[in-house]
Amino acid sequence: MALDFTHDASASSWVASAQQADCDFTIQNLPIGIFDTPTEGRCRGGIAIGDQILDLARLASSDALNGAALVACNVAALSSLNEFMSLGPMPWRALRHEVFKLLHSDASESTRSRVKACLVPMSEARVKMPVDLRNYTDFFTSLYHAENCGRLVRPDQPLTPNFKWMPIAYHGRASSVVISGTPFHRPVGQSRSAGSSHPTFGPCKRLDFELELGFFVGPATQLGQNIPPSKAREHIFGMCLMNDWSARDHQFWEMDPLGPFLGKNFCTTISPWIVTIDALEPYRTASPRQASEPQPLAYLYDEGDQSEGSLDIQLEVAIQTLSHVAQKLSGDAVTRTSFRHQYWTIAQMLAHHTIGGCNMDSGDLLGTGTISGPTQQEAGSLVELTTGGTTQLSLPSTGEQRAFLEDGDTVVLRGWCQKEGLARIGFGECRGKVLPARH
Ligand code: CA
Repeated sequence: MALDFTHDASASSWVASAQQADCDFTIQNLPIGIFDTPTEGRCRGGIAIGDQILDLARLASSDALNGAALVACNVAALSSLNEFMSLGPMPWRALRHEVFKLLHSDASESTRSRVKACLVPMSEARVKMPVDLRNYTDFFTSLYHAENCGRLVRPDQPLTPNFKWMPIAYHGRASSVVISGTPFHRPVGQSRSAGSSHPTFGPCKRLDFELELGFFVGPATQLGQNIPPSKAREHIFGMCLMNDWSARDHQFWEMDPLGPFLGKNFCTTISPWIVTIDALEPYRTASPRQASEPQPLAYLYDEGDQSEGSLDIQLEVAIQTLSHVAQKLSGDAVTRTSFRHQYWTIAQMLAHHTIGGCNMDSGDLLGTGTISGPTQQEAGSLVELTTGGTTQLSLPSTGEQRAFLEDGDTVVLRGWCQKEGLARIGFGECRGKVLPARH
């Protein structure tokens, strides 16, 4: 896809908060989500702009849109985005183009006043799950994460022989995926400490976050149909931040010989505003795979995907403890990296997922797997940052230390794209708080 007028870095919005430096929800972004308000309990679609939400239900019943954009807006205004995601790139783009014009500084006074009546302050809104989630898959596609974790259990051969040949994944649990801001209880389960002959049961002692991005499937496919990497863009609606909370002690005991189960299925948190694949377009970049490494098998290879299938999305994780909250501090960053280091692209993930004929539903969520950069300071989980819990991370603003998460800790993921000559776009926050175990 070529860039168009909606990517123009010089474009500005008459919504003043969208023009502030470091604003995530600029006019070039226009991420979409589901929300309601305490006074109007009906869930409906909205587009984030500055500190406001453009209420798509109100917009659809105003006379600000017509034609294909109005049709698309009516679908996007429903209580979940599955149907809008099923429509495909042309309707998605029709809505994006017209909303961009309505929010642009060049919009007439009469347009502004009509659109102003459709704005809801974010401070008055409650964000909801963007889709009726039926399927969730989580990948394992960061070379550095795979090496860091592999080293903890197999120091001689950290990387499994399949890693550079396929984007590895497991089928996750859709029912426990929650929206940002939802707290969860520390899980209980079995674990076995090193040198012990039998496991013990109790609250997780090694609770961790995983810094990930998620992406949502657009148009569905039939059983038996595959999506080659060259067609992936038409089947990927957009992306969100994702925290795949992990109980490391439970996970490492249960994973032999099958995949993650209770160590992962107690909670996964996603951010509410889905940044569309169109908005991310200017931030495409080359795959980091070197010529000396195994080249992808034909079903995973597309020249365009290799040259521009990675995305330069900057990411940060902060921990806010109860001491931070008591002192009105926002927390301390514990890691920063970029998604551009990821070994496999999202197009390759979708191509691999479907190559055997697995059908995809509109609104299915696929996680990228933990995103870790080349150095240990850029790792996307505590188990990597503290080398399996053998060291502690310092939280400078309170003087506390952490090897793993404690009750009351809040983990905040942030993501944004920013580069000279391009407009900043961002994901906002993905936030979750650990409550004490129930048992
Ligand atoms: Ca994960």
